[in-house]
Amino acid sequence: MSSFSGAVIGREQVTRRCGCVVEFLHYESDPFRAARKQKMQQKRCPPCGKKASDTFSAQQSADAAARRDLERTKRQERVAEAEARAKELRIERDAVKIVEHEEQAARAKREPGKARVTFEPLPPGTVLTVEKLPSGTWLGVLAVPGHAGIERRAGSPIGLVFKLAEVFARAQAEGKVPA
Ligand SMILES: [Zn+2]
Repeated sequence: MSSFSGAVIGREQVTRRCGCVVEFLHYESDPFRAARKQKMQQKRCPPCGKKASDTFSAQQSADAAARRDLERTKRQERVAEAEARAKELRIERDAVKIVEHEEQAARAKREPGKARVTFEPLPPGTVLTVEKLPSGTWLGVLAVPGHAGIERRAGSPIGLVFKLAEVFARAQAEGKVPA
């Protein structure tokens, strides 16, 4: 709006937006003086304008820094929560293992091993012998004091001793133990 020209014919003090009072010059040819004056009143003076701009920039930087801090804090909280959940899961898993172990131990107590069930009822003095025959099969003899021996054959000595003890137990249960 540099529409004015000619000599300065007057001057007045105007207050700018920032509150600073400056000199407003009147020129010989100045068709838009009123508009020029109004515009001047609405704007800050250059030093105050720069100050306001710097303040705005500093505020923006501060806001951005605050947002970053907040994000970082929120993230740290999420990490802490995730760690707590992970810890709970580990504890839960360990607890499940402990319980499983206890259950297994309790089961083992309630359900004694097959060998104990099979051989415990045999009376003292019982003799179990296994002999490998030339044919390759095993001959097992169970001799219980006061009874006739029981003989069985099998391909494996381990299965054989179980078999003999079971035969004896069944015969005893049915009252058929040969005297
Ligand atoms: Zn000013």
